[in-house]
Amino acid sequence: MGEEAVIIGGGPAGSATAIALSRRGVPVRLLERKADAHHKVCGEFISVEAAHYLAGLGVNLAALGAEPIHNARFYNGESELNFPLPFTAWSLSRYRLDHALLEQAELAGAAVELGTTVRHLAHVDDGWELLTRNRFGHRSAMSANTVFLATGKHELRDWKRRPHAQRRSVVKRLYHYKRHHDYIGFKMHFSPSTWQQHPWQDTVEVHLFNGGYAGLEPIEQGGVNLSFLIRQDIYKACGGDWPGVLGWLSETSSHMKQRLADLTPCWHAPLAISSVPYGYLRSPGHSLPGLFPLGDQAAVIPSFAGDGIAIALHTALLAARIYTAGDDTKAYQRLAYADLTRPVRHAEQLANLLSYRLGRKAAFMCARRWPALLSAAALRTRIRV
Ligand SMILES: Cc1cc2nc3c(=O)[nH]c(=O)nc-3n(C[C@H](O)[C@H](O)[C@H](O)COP(=O)(O)OP(=O)(O)OC[C@H]3O[C@@H](n4cnc5c(N)ncnc54)[C@H](O)[C@@H]3O)c2cc1C
Repeated sequence: MGEEAVIIGGGPAGSATAIALSRRGVPVRLLERKADAHHKVCGEFISVEAAHYLAGLGVNLAALGAEPIHNARFYNGESELNFPLPFTAWSLSRYRLDHALLEQAELAGAAVELGTTVRHLAHVDDGWELLTRNRFGHRSAMSANTVFLATGKHELRDWKRRPHAQRRSVVKRLYHYKRHHDYIGFKMHFSPSTWQQHPWQDTVEVHLFNGGYAGLEPIEQGGVNLSFLIRQDIYKACGGDWPGVLGWLSETSSHMKQRLADLTPCWHAPLAISSVPYGYLRSPGHSLPGLFPLGDQAAVIPSFAGDGIAIALHTALLAARIYTAGDDTKAYQRLAYADLTRPVRHAEQLANLLSYRLGRKAAFMCARRWPALLSAAALRTRIRV
């Protein structure tokens, strides 16, 4: 057998696994298809849980220029709700975060191969076979005892995520598919000049509207990240292009209009993603010897919860611990499922509630009257570290 352990994907899940295994003396190879860390569609919100794991992995958020976040502000049309966060969260671009984690993986001793795409993965008698192609088009084959699957939203051919079969009836599954796969996600960074002096530094803003939501928060060097999800039919109806969709977004409330006025985008086009399988939870029954699905390959929490990175890191550290203890992947998947079910399901329920005008109204009303209720509901969407 060739490699002992191969990690596919160099996002937070893959890099954290590489760091944890290398620190435990396991020789590990990480394969990442892109030639460098890169921007990804993300709100850039680093939850307190993610920050806790990152500190342990040697990532110093403050030194990287991350912005501390102490407040959250929600909008439902013209209605506004402010509350202080009971902890410090952070905001940092995914480029910087993913780059810092890859750097830590190399420092810990992992062999990091950037620009190498895994094209094929096959389970053979005593392990795994992989076919790869590097950025120069060179193809090669390798084998490994154990594979850590950390490809995020991307599906590896023949390893497509399957919904948890026992969880829902066919009708409910179709309903769920329609509701959660119909969205398209965008992200754009805006330049410092316009936003630098804005009064809502240290605040994450969430704008809720019919057909999606948008998140705005400050990032390093005074920039601002805008990420939003909207239903595909809305996107099509507003011309299917970026100016059209921004115009539509600015009409969702006077607050959003004000935010979007006079912006200088940093990129000529936004990043976009579609068909995100929100609510996905890998069933413990789908385990294969020597295969550890991590991060978004283990579970996909609705993004407004801002805990996807924490889940990626949690599963990475859990898998590394189980692997080095000599336990099998069944044990990993059982534990991962137990840890992830509650936050993913609660975030899904909350996302469903907030997707209705009446649900948003009721949520705002309850949160104003009983602020503790809001904290309790938010806490139930968090992964326990
Ligand atoms: C709209 C939106 C907003 C979000 N906002 C937040 C937020 O504010 N906070 C938060 O915590 N989470 C957020 N998330 C979720 C978060 O982005 C993900 O949960 C997180 O990135 C998962 O990490 P990962 O390592 O599993 O996957 P990724 O970060 O996606 O990394 C996967 C890596 O694998 C590589 N790869 C893929 N296929 C191959 C292959 N065949 N061979 C080699 N390499 C491969 C990719 O290039 C990539 O680098 C958001 C998600 C969306 C869609």
